Amino acid sequence: MRNWDYVVIGAGIVGLATALQILRARPKAKICVVEKERAVAGHQTSHNSGVIHSGVYYKPDSVKARTCVEGSHLLTKFCVQHNIAVRTCGKIIVATHPVDLPRLDELERRGHANGVNGLRRISKDELRELEPHVHGHSGLLAPNTSIVDFAQVALAYAKEIREAGGEILLNTAVTALHTPSSHVVIETSKETLAAKTVINCAGLHSDRIARLAAGPKVTTHIIPFRGEYYLIKPQRADMVRHLIYPVPNPAFPFLGVHLTPKIDGSLEAGPNAVFATAREGYSKGIVNGKDCWECFKYSGFWRMLSRYWKTGLGEIHRSFSKRAFLIELQKLAPSLTLDDLHPGGAGVRAQVVMPNGTLCDDFLIRRDDNIIHVLNVPSPAATASLAIGSHIVNKVLDLDHINSVPEKL
Ligand SMILES: Cc1cc2nc3c(=O)[nH]c(=O)nc-3n(C[C@H](O)[C@H](O)[C@H](O)COP(=O)(O)OP(=O)(O)OC[C@H]3O[C@@H](n4cnc5c(N)ncnc54)[C@H](O)[C@@H]3O)c2cc1C
Repeated sequence: MRNWDYVVIGAGIVGLATALQILRARPKAKICVVEKERAVAGHQTSHNSGVIHSGVYYKPDSVKARTCVEGSHLLTKFCVQHNIAVRTCGKIIVATHPVDLPRLDELERRGHANGVNGLRRISKDELRELEPHVHGHSGLLAPNTSIVDFAQVALAYAKEIREAGGEILLNTAVTALHTPSSHVVIETSKETLAAKTVINCAGLHSDRIARLAAGPKVTTHIIPFRGEYYLIKPQRADMVRHLIYPVPNPAFPFLGVHLTPKIDGSLEAGPNAVFATAREGYSKGIVNGKDCWECFKYSGFWRMLSRYWKTGLGEIHRSFSKRAFLIELQKLAPSLTLDDLHPGGAGVRAQVVMPNGTLCDDFLIRRDDNIIHVLNVPSPAATASLAIGSHIVNKVLDLDHINSVPEKL
């Protein structure tokens, strides 16, 4: 059995950023990252919109707001240092209907409270001037929003971890966790490991890892939501210069279907948000019995359905009907046609749903003795990854000194 100071479960962008920040704080630490897939970044980290968010949306002083604003600066600096392409194209959140205006006011207030640089309101005329294909009554311009390939960022984190002496064990799934005394025993599909501290960054499976450690007392449940994209045909890929977003529904942490220029020069539209019948189901046909059963036996899932069934039905309709998806997009860009949209990729979000059926809004990171569980880190966690890593490091370093009471999961 090999002994480690720290074992991180999951080589997505959050697990890798955490391992990197631990090594920066404790260069002599013995650390390994355990990943079930054959390569790093195989799930949420490589199936997303690629936007380095500036921090407009999030409730001031929430962990999301603080880590997003700090993380976007840290990430941009990291990309410059590692020659990773980043393009600062800016983002405009567009009020397409007068009812959106008070919500846009609230986003502007939040953005200023969060310290988003350069944020400003733009009039209908300025919007038309900046984006002739976009329709709206008013807009909120966040000029410092950028785009990047997060999988490339994760690969660079992994390289730096290895260079600093950390190990990444691929093809190695964590199957059991035991806490005999002052350390944690981690059983994997390949070998048994022992660690002083474990950090659970298992993304779509982090609630299961928490249950491996603490059993049924863990009340946190992840519900997977697939986000599907269309690709705009190449001839129209330059129709917008900024990222174009609608004003989101404040009841949900999802941002609404948007137009996203990609770092490779293409233009994407999406993602929607539909219940996924498999945690790693990247297309409609994939059904995983265990994943579905775990959702169906969770009362919070049914409470969520009874709260939001109307929105859910709308999302399902848009998922099956290209025309319905187009109608949503045309609210932002009326000149788009069915012919402009080609099926694109998809990602699955790991979203914690609370027992009362609401969607957990903030990042959720909990400590239980010498295991730290990263349970809810959906968007903008890729942006915030390095700041989430530092946030965890502070907890990890605390663990070495303070014998505190475990928090309830
Ligand atoms: C559609 C979509 C769009 C998004 N857009 C953006 C965006 O524009 N900007 C932004 O900042 N964020 C965005 N996000 C969010 C962002 O992608 C995620 O927050 C982030 O990638 C989460 O990283 P992670 O490391 O927690 O999870 P993951 O990348 O899913 O990594 C978790 C890893 O844990 C591994 N694992 C799981 N179980 C085990 C086990 N038992 N043993 C070993 N390994 C295990 C998995 O194989 C996986 O590699 C988006 C997400 C989605 C789905």
